Amino acid sequence: MRQKRSKMPDVPLLMTPGPTQVRENVRIIRALEMTNPDLDLKFFRFYRKTCFKLAAFMNTNSQVLILSGEGMLALDSACASLAEPGDRVLIIDNGLFGEGFADMVKAYGAEPVVFKGARTRGISSENLREFLNEDSDFKFATIVHCDTPSGVLNDLKEICPLLKAHGILTVVDAVSSMVGEPLYTDDWGIDICIGASQKGFSAPPGLAFLSVSPDAWDAIENRKTPIPSYYCNLLLWKNYFEDFWFPYTPPISDIYGFNAALNNVVKEKGTLKRHRRIAKAVRKAVIRSGLSLYLRSDYCSTVTAVNVPEGVDGEALIQRMKNETGILIGGNFGELKGKVIRIGHMGENARLEYVSETLKALQETLEKEGVVLNADMESVFLEEMVKKK
Ligand SMILES: *Cc1c(COP(=O)(O)O)cnc(C)c1O
Repeated sequence: MRQKRSKMPDVPLLMTPGPTQVRENVRIIRALEMTNPDLDLKFFRFYRKTCFKLAAFMNTNSQVLILSGEGMLALDSACASLAEPGDRVLIIDNGLFGEGFADMVKAYGAEPVVFKGARTRGISSENLREFLNEDSDFKFATIVHCDTPSGVLNDLKEICPLLKAHGILTVVDAVSSMVGEPLYTDDWGIDICIGASQKGFSAPPGLAFLSVSPDAWDAIENRKTPIPSYYCNLLLWKNYFEDFWFPYTPPISDIYGFNAALNNVVKEKGTLKRHRRIAKAVRKAVIRSGLSLYLRSDYCSTVTAVNVPEGVDGEALIQRMKNETGILIGGNFGELKGKVIRIGHMGENARLEYVSETLKALQETLEKEGVVLNADMESVFLEEMVKKK
């Protein structure tokens, strides 16, 4: 599984929390000759087979669709297809992506009601339970599994059944957790579960996908008003196979690539364990060095958010690290910009050699910035990784 570090001279080693590194077999297959995906029945079958494989991976019997667009397209499609004027939508917000759903449902005329949680930990299902006992008149709720700017992991296993018990449909953004954290779409009562190609699956950006439960289809089909979108109208996809008709030409090369990436993931044994071990060792290295983690608890295994020491600008730091070591890690957005940096250890990034190189490069760059660290992060990381588990 170890891969040689062979990169175009001006392409950094990608250690961002998406897009992630793309394996050679995925890159190559995208260059294959193609058929006309709108007319060739073989492609319809290939597309459907890929969707079934993805559904099995997501542990759902629901229909899964792969859409041509970045992850945001699936978020937007879920909101466009469900939300309408007069609807109240519960926005569960403990991070930037969680918060962002409010604007999306507003764009379709629904009323967002925000349930806020602390940004440095997972949503408390106890607090949510109390909230719902007072007010549960919502058509659907939105929640992010891993809110990537902080890396906080929300406990869907507790939260989604709670919402369903109040008759609320659940829309989950699992874009950055998928592949690195367990996901039981049906058992957890997720009605629409959303992912994207460029995070844990380690395919290039360009595809979004989502599962749509029978309850969600019912809600979509029983709207009072028509869906005010074409590209985001999920209903147009419902019978694509029976009708042999796609709402728009599928990006066939992207889907070939994604299918190969999905096969890489499905074939590997112990993917979750690989992510868990790497994430734990990274946290240990950060803490021992004297740096601090942004989160207090509920760490997702796909990304680690680290507070930037006083006096250092995080965005300048990552540019310097990229220029001087050829390794690119993630910066941040909004209030965290410049203050919190992120190591993306999801999918193909979550390999011992890449992560150890990254920690070494981060250490060097911080030291050049005048930061004194208490321990060598690469060494602590490697010690943790060789420990018998
Ligand atoms: C990456 C990501 C998306 C997709 O959004 P982009 O910022 O456009 O890549 C959506 N949700 C989450 C939680 C993500 O991490």
